[in-house]
Amino acid sequence: MENIAQLSDLVIDQIAAGEIIERPSSVIKELLENSIDSRADTISLNINEGGTARIEVCDNGEGIHCHDLPLSIARHATSKIKSISDLNQCETHGFRGEALAAISSVSKLTIISRNSENSSAQKLEKVDGIWSCSPSPANKGTTVIVEELFFKIPARKRFLKTLATEFSHCKNSFLETSLIHNHITWYFYSNGKEIIKLPAKNINERFADICGIPVERINNIKKNVGPVRVEACFPFSNNEIRRKNNQFIYVNNRAVKNRTLIHAINSALNEITHGTKDSSIFLSLNLPNSLVDFNVHPCKTEVRFKDSSAVYEVVLTTIKNSFKHYAGENYTNDVIDLNFSKERTSIDQEKNKINLSINSSSSQKQLSLKTSDGFYSQQNLKPNITENSPELEPPLGFAMAQLHGIYILAENSEGLIIVDIHAAHERILFENYKKNIEFDNLKVQRLINPIKLQLDENEMEIFSINTSLISSMGFDIIKIDSQSLSIEGIPELTNHLNPKEILLEIIGDVLKFGHAESFESKLNSFLGNLACKSAIKANRKMTVPEMNGLLRSMEKTNYGGKCNHGRPSWAQLSVENIDKIFLRGR
Ligand code: ADP
Ligand code: MG
Repeated sequence: MENIAQLSDLVIDQIAAGEIIERPSSVIKELLENSIDSRADTISLNINEGGTARIEVCDNGEGIHCHDLPLSIARHATSKIKSISDLNQCETHGFRGEALAAISSVSKLTIISRNSENSSAQKLEKVDGIWSCSPSPANKGTTVIVEELFFKIPARKRFLKTLATEFSHCKNSFLETSLIHNHITWYFYSNGKEIIKLPAKNINERFADICGIPVERINNIKKNVGPVRVEACFPFSNNEIRRKNNQFIYVNNRAVKNRTLIHAINSALNEITHGTKDSSIFLSLNLPNSLVDFNVHPCKTEVRFKDSSAVYEVVLTTIKNSFKHYAGENYTNDVIDLNFSKERTSIDQEKNKINLSINSSSSQKQLSLKTSDGFYSQQNLKPNITENSPELEPPLGFAMAQLHGIYILAENSEGLIIVDIHAAHERILFENYKKNIEFDNLKVQRLINPIKLQLDENEMEIFSINTSLISSMGFDIIKIDSQSLSIEGIPELTNHLNPKEILLEIIGDVLKFGHAESFESKLNSFLGNLACKSAIKANRKMTVPEMNGLLRSMEKTNYGGKCNHGRPSWAQLSVENIDKIFLRGR
């Protein structure tokens, strides 16, 4: 072994930089966040060759005072906190004063900045190996240029992937950072070409722009639960949900990677559209800084919640509840556009645009209010509806006919309701199965040959603490010794699953999340398939009372507006919109 020697500052800086700057996209994240912290309202990013050759971020924010400029690249130098107690109130992205120092130690860095107190801008750059400042023409704000990333560290450079991959990381970093700051106008150029432009818009429109989905198809929920404020945007149907890379998760306006949150989102959507992973979603949580710790990793993309189980519950129930009486009526928009707008000129199209979202707020609210009151619980027959008593009408109206053996056509006071029979029946069965199989009621099926299972110390501890939870799920398990269990019985409905695997997954889930998710989602997926197989198939003739019975059941069913795969189960075409189709003025 060599003698112990103090590392040089350069080596210390480069090691530290390795934690923050992994690739061009990490530089972008840091620079964009600095621009946001400077209260800019326009920020542009310009990269060359996937950010490996050059990254430039330009903002119109407050700028850096010329006296402070040289200090901006010093390690642990920041204008954002002064003491550790400031951390609790800190609302800026940065606070560790490390990013510019890290970037400067692994690239050629230039900063041009001007704040409102200075009459001209200053440029900070290294000339002949020495940092120096010189006057430079620029407006108020800051431009940071990062060239030749890792040029002094070939080992790091070799870890970079192809230019296309690095470009896509840069784009993701740009999108992730820009999405939530929707009051800012953003530009993204690559090799001189404009790639993305995001004008300041509301968050729904911003999310729709980024996902390439019409804004009318985005569902938005906002909820305050205790000290936590949740906001989420996600598309109505699975067609849009199934796009990858469109999960944007934020805590206190910072993009984060957090398993608890991803898990809560997937579980919530899984319940409704079982089996769908990678759902497009924007989720933003805001909670007091005292309940969350960002100071876990230099990149601040990891968070620790004081009570992650509570956060999990809040997200899960908020998203799930938003689906309870969901309708997919926006689908009709497409149908109309396809069938009727073709022959029209584009101006006509604008003029005659048929807006079916009219019913999205009014009738849906009505539906949820009325059904949650249990108002229609015993209604099966058509009452006499008078003009003055519209509140007696069930939300989905009364059946008139069956179309092509697939759809029910029903009439309510607003217009025409179209129901996809299979989709509706599937959801009704699924929710019924779930109700009947509340965990307590899961029947045990005894195994003729019990199965032996080895557990490690950790797993055994989790099992011992949660024995009653696990047996309430329908497992009959005997502890043989400190390392092994014998599975004597399994939940009746899960005999198609591997008991060993399932039990290990439950224990693993409880270990990670404090919940047994995988069992629930497997059971859901099984029940979903069962419901799909048992639901009314196309071309089965239905009588009018049967159809009305189905409509009344739909109104009573949670998530009755969607089938188990997330397709809408009913749509409404209001008389007003039918009038528009026929260009009929009233
Ligand atoms: P931190 O953001 O954690 O403070 P940085 O190394 O990213 O650390 O930045 C150091 C300091 O430089 C910041 O505290 C801020 O005062 C200043 N700064 C960096 N970028 C900008 C910018 N775009 N506009 C204004 N000031 C900036
Ligand atoms: Mg910073």
